[in-house]
This record gives sequence, C-alpha cells and structure tokens, in this order.
Amino acid sequence: MKVGVARETAAGERRVALVPEALGKLAAAGLEILVETGAGAGSAIPDAAFAEAGARVVSTDALYAESDLILRVQKPSADETSRMRSGQAVIGFLQPLIDPTSAKALADRGVTAISLDAIPRTLSRAQTMDALSSQANVGGYKAVLIAANAYGRYFPLLTTAAGTAKPANVLILGIGVAGLQAIGTARRLGAVVKAYDVRPETREQAESLGAGFVKLKTAIDATGAGGYARELTAEERAAQQAELNEVIGGMDIVITTAQVPGRKPPVLVTADAVLAMKSGSVIVDMAASALGGNCELSRVGETIETDNGVTIIAPDNLPATMPAGASAFYARNISALLLGMVKDGALHLDFDDEVTKATVIAHGGAIVSEPVNKLLEQSSGGNA
Ligand code: NAD
Repeated sequence: MKVGVARETAAGERRVALVPEALGKLAAAGLEILVETGAGAGSAIPDAAFAEAGARVVSTDALYAESDLILRVQKPSADETSRMRSGQAVIGFLQPLIDPTSAKALADRGVTAISLDAIPRTLSRAQTMDALSSQANVGGYKAVLIAANAYGRYFPLLTTAAGTAKPANVLILGIGVAGLQAIGTARRLGAVVKAYDVRPETREQAESLGAGFVKLKTAIDATGAGGYARELTAEERAAQQAELNEVIGGMDIVITTAQVPGRKPPVLVTADAVLAMKSGSVIVDMAASALGGNCELSRVGETIETDNGVTIIAPDNLPATMPAGASAFYARNISALLLGMVKDGALHLDFDDEVTKATVIAHGGAIVSEPVNKLLEQSSGGNA
C-alpha cells in the first residue's frame, strides 16, 4: 500500500504528519511512503531527510493520484477533498464532531475517513495513538513559555547583588493533560504554582507536581464520563466564580486550559476578575476558539492589553508553534493507529475492533460514525 504524507495547507499549520524517524516501522510493515514536496518545511525537515529515510518525495498531483492512504494533521481543505477519489483513505485530526460537513464531503467522494481525535482515550492500548494528549502536552508547555516571555519579571526567586526578585505566582485553571504539563513547566521555571479543576482527583496529580491545589469552599465534583468534566450548573458556576475571582486577583500569571467536550469552554476568568488583576499580569487562554474561551475578554489568535495593564494572549494553535517537537509525537501517534489497521501491507478495517469502530468516520460512501450521523441529521432538521 502507498501511504502519502500531505503538506499542510491550513493557515498557521507548520506540523507534518510523519517525521523521517517514523518511516522504518511503516516500511517494515510493507508500506511504501510518498511525501508531498515541502511537507516537512514548516517543521524544518527537508525533503532530502525524508528521501534518506526511504520515502519518495512527489508533487502534489502525484501524491493525490498515487496514494492509497493519506496521512495529515489537519482535515483536508475543500480543494484537497476534491482531489481525493473513491477507495482512498485519509487519517488526521478530522474533527467530525466540530465539522461534520467536511466529513460528509469525504464520505460522498467514497473516501475512507479515519479521525485521530476520535480515539477511545481511556483504552490502554490506544495510549500510544492519543494525539490529543501528545499535542495538549506540547500546548501546555508552550503556554507557560509564552506567558514567561510576556511577563516583565522573573519566574524564579532570584537573589542577586542587585536585590531579590520574588517568584511569580502562577495559576493553572484546568488540570487535564495540558494543565499538568503547564504545572510542571512553570515549576521548572521556578514559579510558585497553584492549580484548580472541578474533578477532585486532579488534586493529587497537581500536588505531585509541586502545585498547591485551590480548594474552594463550595465543593464541586463535576467528574463526567471518560475522565472528562461535565458542564457546571448555573448555581455551581456562580459559587465557583465568586471564589475564583479572589484567587485570580492575587496572581501574576493565569493559564487556562479548561474544556468540556462538545461544548463552549466555561468562562473562568470574567472581565471583572481581569479588572482586579495587577498591571503587568499575563493571561494565556489555551481554551480559546471561535466558540469563546476561558477568559471572557479573550480574542482567539490575538494578544490584547487591557486598560488596567493585563496582557491576554489567546493562541489558536499552540502545537503548531513548536512544530518539530509536536510532529515527532504526532508521527508516533498516527503510525501506531495506522499499523493497528494494516494487515499484509494493506488497510484492513475490522469494525469489531474498538479503535477502528471509533475512529473510522466514513467508509464505503457513507458516514459510519453514529455520533456524526446524529449531528448531520440535527443540522439538516432531521431530514438527512
Ligand atoms: P480537557 O481538555 O477536556 O479539559 C481540561 C481540564 O479542564 C480537565 O481536567 C477538566 O476537568 C477541566 N475543566 C472543565 N471544566 C472546568 C471548570 N468549569 N473549572 C475548572 N476546570 C474545568 O481534558 P483533557 O486534558 O483532554 O483530559 C481530561 C482528562 O481525561 C485527563 O486528565 C484524564 O483523566 C482523562 N484522560 C484519560 C486518558 C486515559 O485514560 N488514557 C487519556 C487522556 C485523557
């Protein structure tokens, strides 16, 4: 089977789905690797490095014409989808629950669409395929570096002949994969770190990394399905907000990572809370998207400075800002998923397998994922 690696075309995307180090295992499984020319450029991987690792570097036309399966990071654009043909397959972050229409377009062309973000994350066998975690990890790390860069003071306690610098007080809101990496990174930089989450089991995880857990007087346990949080009720939100505002006011840096799957991210840092922060404080909102963010004032993709001197940064694709490191992890994840679906050098989809069942969104000209079909029905008013 010929496996193509696409050059990403989404704005600001610098990652690539495979790195040269990942090719050996795929070749050993009988796969021939084609790489679209320039695919690794954003990650500082020249075409020659792919060629040396055994790949054939090809033009865009040849990639779409020859590949049986295409590996990518972001979902294909409308133009890329129109280049694909029936019987071909694609694997990437297709985000069918956010954009079911693009998944439907792939299905209509007869393309087998396999979405890496639909991995059953609690399945231990799927850990190596969990690109959501590997990329969240990169994001959590980078968010702290961005905050440190924007902050006009030191993170660590520093005693010098010119005086003593106090350590920065950092608050991490949301202690999932990104939040835990943010805690570790801020601690390694010497900051005093506090963290908060609505899932009580995160307390021990935060403390084991050296953060103090913010325990609110209003006890909230919002543990939801699959290790995720559920949405808070209006009463819980109000109680949480009043107490959190007090904590936020004393912080130099706030990094927010809180998400609730399939919903708008909860607002944890209100405009009032920002007003109460000291001039020079920095907020990095990792949850910001077109749907909004964890900070009421965030504008996705932008950095703003409020009248009271607080910098609010809302990056829209942090992993792409550390492309080589993020791609190396992503390549391992996508290779693990692919190898689990290859038999005798060809794609072999066993729908009794939990990973296959969850990740194959379109096959044989139809959407085969129940949740995606439901979404499509809803969006067409139940007439689909
Ligand atoms: P996420 O990106 O969905 O959310 C980030 C964090 O925000 C979560 O910890 C969540 O509890 C928190 N949050 C949501 N609403 C909040 C609110 N109102 N206030 C404060 N915090 C709030 O989560 P994620 O990082 O993708 O994963 C979350 C958890 O899923 C992990 O920590 C883990 O327990 C579980 N998980 C398990 C596996 C596995 O079993 N292999 C793999 C990945 C993740």
